Amino acid sequence: MRAAGLVAIVAIGLVFGCDRAQAPAPPATEPREAVPEPAVAAEVAALTPPAPPEVPGGGPDPLTLDPSYSTSIGGPNEGSLTGGVPLPLSGPGYRFTPRKKPERRHGTVELVAALVRAAVHVHTTSPTGDPPAILTFGDIGMPQGGEIAGHGSHRAGRDADVMFYLLHEDGTPAEGKAIPLDPEGKGTDYKDLADPADDVAFAIDVPRTWAFVAALLADDTVQIQQIYIVEHLRTMLLEHGKRVKAEALILSRFADVTCQPRFPHDDHMHIRAFCTAQDIAGGCNDVAPIYPWQRALLESQGAAPVAPGKRKTPKVKLTSVDEAREKAGPMDAAVSEFLDRRKAWAKSPHPGRKWCK
Ligand SMILES: [Zn+2]
Repeated sequence: MRAAGLVAIVAIGLVFGCDRAQAPAPPATEPREAVPEPAVAAEVAALTPPAPPEVPGGGPDPLTLDPSYSTSIGGPNEGSLTGGVPLPLSGPGYRFTPRKKPERRHGTVELVAALVRAAVHVHTTSPTGDPPAILTFGDIGMPQGGEIAGHGSHRAGRDADVMFYLLHEDGTPAEGKAIPLDPEGKGTDYKDLADPADDVAFAIDVPRTWAFVAALLADDTVQIQQIYIVEHLRTMLLEHGKRVKAEALILSRFADVTCQPRFPHDDHMHIRAFCTAQDIAGGCNDVAPIYPWQRALLESQGAAPVAPGKRKTPKVKLTSVDEAREKAGPMDAAVSEFLDRRKAWAKSPHPGRKWCK
């Protein structure tokens, strides 16, 4: 419990992570199926397309699916999902977090495939580390969307939590973890909060994290509405993008869609995709902001955005920082110092930008 203590504290309230135990499976019953005549069976087989290949964790390979396979219905805070596709549990340069139940990794084909493509792009284009850099994905959504413990959104297959690429202290790549990062991009996995001897230092891997978000924003198959990220890491990534002379459109899109909401997002990014035209036909709606370029894109496809005027936020039980801190039990001075320092960047929202109120 103590190892998870800091995560609980830093998650300011999104801490009711103890999921209910899965209900036992009902007794297996074999469905009765009519046995087709051999000639008919051959005809049916000829008409049935081959099943797409399975990936780690089961399910079809999201990269092989047509976007119409899935439909996001309703909004991120109260919606649902049909044809939800699971992010593979692992792939080249990425994994789904081993800390969460695998059922929590379902999203629309567009979003899941774009996340995989961006992670594979980083894996194949950045210098190989030994061991290699691993991007860790957190919660996406449940197989049919809807309520997911610990979140107000993540209900319509269009939200995903993505941890930052991290480096060890010696500069070698590390597996991504939810480590809160300070204004220098540094953080510590405190493990046992009361034992300073087991602490491990990490820093954000800016080039790989930038390469990931840039690839995602350049992917025409998904339209990213927002990336929630703490202000100081946003600044770091944006400056890196300018330094490496990233395409002007990608830089401006990143600047426009990034935002620090109430919850500071210093240990992961929350990425949200817009409804596609096909989703909208199936009942999908967005929440503000709808950018002019998204309106123009939908218009070119004969659709228009549907955005309810008032955002519906379900009531999710939240824990205050102080409550979580108390619950975490004894902690050494370094942990307390970090939590005190963290208050400075946990303020919100950061005003002053066009789309980030
Ligand atoms: Zn999230």
